Amino acid sequence: MKTQFLLCGDIGCVGYGSQEVYQKFQELQADWFEVRFTGCLGFCAVGPVLEVNPGKIFYHKVKPADVPEILETAKNGETLERLLYKHPETKQPCVRIEEVPFYQKQKKIVLRTNGQVSPDSIDDYLALGGYDGLRKALTMQPEAIVDEIVKSGLRGRGGGGFPTGRKWQSVLKAHSDVKYILCNGDEGDPGAFMDRSVMQGTPHVVLEGMIIGAYAIGAHQGFIYVRDEYPQAVAHLQKAIEDARAKNFLGNNILDSSFNFDITIKRGAGAFVCGESSALMRSIEGKIGEPNEKYVHASEQGLWGKPTVLNNVETFANVPYILLHGAEQYKQLGTEKSPGTKVFCLVGKVKNVGLIEVEMGITLRKVIFDIGGGIVKDRPFKAVQTGGPSGGCIPSQYLDTPIDFDSLVALGSMMGSGGMIVMDDCDCMVEVARYFTKFLIEESCGKCAPCREGLIHLNHLLERITHGKGQPEDLQKLEKLGAYIAESSLCGLGKTAPNPLLSTLRYFREEYVDHIKHHH
Ligand code: SF4
Repeated sequence: MKTQFLLCGDIGCVGYGSQEVYQKFQELQADWFEVRFTGCLGFCAVGPVLEVNPGKIFYHKVKPADVPEILETAKNGETLERLLYKHPETKQPCVRIEEVPFYQKQKKIVLRTNGQVSPDSIDDYLALGGYDGLRKALTMQPEAIVDEIVKSGLRGRGGGGFPTGRKWQSVLKAHSDVKYILCNGDEGDPGAFMDRSVMQGTPHVVLEGMIIGAYAIGAHQGFIYVRDEYPQAVAHLQKAIEDARAKNFLGNNILDSSFNFDITIKRGAGAFVCGESSALMRSIEGKIGEPNEKYVHASEQGLWGKPTVLNNVETFANVPYILLHGAEQYKQLGTEKSPGTKVFCLVGKVKNVGLIEVEMGITLRKVIFDIGGGIVKDRPFKAVQTGGPSGGCIPSQYLDTPIDFDSLVALGSMMGSGGMIVMDDCDCMVEVARYFTKFLIEESCGKCAPCREGLIHLNHLLERITHGKGQPEDLQKLEKLGAYIAESSLCGLGKTAPNPLLSTLRYFREEYVDHIKHHH
């Protein structure tokens, strides 16, 4: 067996120079080894990262000049100690990837093939059991597949956590010749890159999940909606679709069954609101990507008025595992009401910035301090923002909260798609609220007044406070206006837009008061 060098090809490591490292490997190409650009290995803070197999040896901060020595040591069955990650407490070098604290408390289901396969190789994916979930699904009745997803308790990973099985059930039962299945890859939260990493790193797992879903609900056409800012994800998905067609995982009579299905990529123009389900469907239809009133569910009248299932990238990426291993095994992971794992982008003032996957129910403290390695420069932790612009800031007294859909909502935040922004004592919480409000003003589609006008007023008040011109009555005004926008906006964007403001007012009110007092 050849020695294998798996080099992270995702954007973080590319930024640190992994392409140059790859080139150096190519220049020194020999029969006894192969080098492979993979999807994200997760530990972005110490890139470029490299895994050497056999042995699962983990090297970090690899430079092109290191390559000859890496090859020499690997050939002799040795490790190159200076590139090993040092355990921050014991100061001992970690040889195997699982000895690195960053990886120790993670559980990879969605990302299990991400750092192992070349994104453009269907054979790599097949070698790791890829499309076996689909093969199994095709031996089952559609109802049985939907039942399995219901039993698994899988909840939508894109935001609110709606049970995926129930969504599929409604569309399976809907009477219509034409049904659609859509994948939302429009990830637009600042600081979030989970879905991009999955689409770019293992595009086939997304396709496989969609094909299984399509067979289960009776859809013959699917669309993946990807934001235009993700050209690499689009390229990898396109190649994956072509390869899947060539091997008859897509197209007519899939794997000699009577099932026909194909997938088209639709590129969004990067409007945040197009992540909202009705806006996304209008955008695919070629109309303006604006949300609609939700009198009727997409499961009855979705894309072009037909019954439609819409799930996000990570939700689909869970499906092959559930089919292959069964709902019972899947439910062993996570909590009773939030089974499985969740992928997060751990960013901000945390030492180990990166892409992680953890079991639901793990505490925020374990994620930030054990996996994340704590706060940069060991400054005091102040808050963690989850759920992107729709989420909220969680203070230190809740660090032992288990991460699941319901606990985060109870704290005034939400799971969202999985952005996790860590803040230290230098971060101003009023400024955080202002930043997200400003972001949403730009992203609001302007269709309804509470969101269009209300957010501008909210921002005005917040700016006044951050510029030291706040008035004592401003806090009440903010609360009233925030509650009004949340109640009366048309779509999820407006309804959740005041969350960063309301959660910072709830937990860091004294900072607002200080800003105002300072002025008077
Ligand atoms: Fe558009 Fe905002 Fe109204 Fe949603 S809440 S429809 S984004 S204006």
